Amino acid sequence: MSPADLPAEPVSRADAGAPSLLRVRGLQKSFGSDRVLDSVDLTVGRGRVLALIGPSGSGKTTILRCLNGLELPEGGTIEVAAAPTNADSVGTGTGGRRGATSAVSMAIDFAASPSPKELGALRDRSAMVFQHYNLFPHKTVLQNVIEGPVVVQRRPVAEVMTEALALLERVGLTDKRDSYPFELSGGQQQRVGIVRALALRPQLLLFDEPTSALDPELVGDVLRLIKELADEGWSMVIVTHELEFAREVAHEIAFVDGGTIVEHGNAKQLLRHPQQERTRQFLHRLL
Ligand code: ADP
Repeated sequence: MSPADLPAEPVSRADAGAPSLLRVRGLQKSFGSDRVLDSVDLTVGRGRVLALIGPSGSGKTTILRCLNGLELPEGGTIEVAAAPTNADSVGTGTGGRRGATSAVSMAIDFAASPSPKELGALRDRSAMVFQHYNLFPHKTVLQNVIEGPVVVQRRPVAEVMTEALALLERVGLTDKRDSYPFELSGGQQQRVGIVRALALRPQLLLFDEPTSALDPELVGDVLRLIKELADEGWSMVIVTHELEFAREVAHEIAFVDGGTIVEHGNAKQLLRHPQQERTRQFLHRLL
């Protein structure tokens, strides 16, 4: 185990012994008087893929946004493993992802108003891929990809450019580097969205229903890319309605309903033998 890891904590038999990257305890989030998350507990293991499934409006996107600091919970803690130092690289196969900021693990207590430093550390750890891509419409593909690493992370332009071009080549979009988002198909825009996330060299990739806005014939390419990244050892949390995809790619699945995690376990087992009646009913409607 590297010093960047939190101590292992089994969340299911399949996960036993895997070092944790992120550990969420008792997360609570309201919008106005509506409590949308209630006592959410989750652990994301290093190199593991966790799929969040559940009915529309159950809180999946809100969980993801809390993991990235895009929403601020009012209660609960998120423990984040240390960012790797410049001497370390994370994961496998992605070559030299290196930490940008803090090299210490920290536990962020949301009931006690987290500091800007804590929130910055949380935001640095992960990168989000959005349902509707969220590319800057007035920037080219290449500008979209280099914006975060150059402007936010203040990394050297030449280094970022080299990485960005390699990533665009990897997803077959080299010839679109100077195109604007409106000139691309939805599938191409989403591949740019994924490249933009990878260019940030995060420890954790967060996908919010990455294919649900795509025409059916464009879904396959994006799912294949996500599967490749999973096979390379990227740590991921994916909100998805694609249960077949979740079965194939995720190590674990958490079923979310009514703002809580109703059931969390090995992906194949949970889909085949759900333990909770609410999970059974949900799966019965979809499978
Ligand atoms: P899911 O991803 O499972 O469809 P969401 O996390 O998007 O669910 O939403 C959970 C609940 O929180 C829903 O009732 C939704 O209407 C509400 N909600 C989400 N975002 C906001 C917001 N920014 N303001 C008010 N309510 C919100």
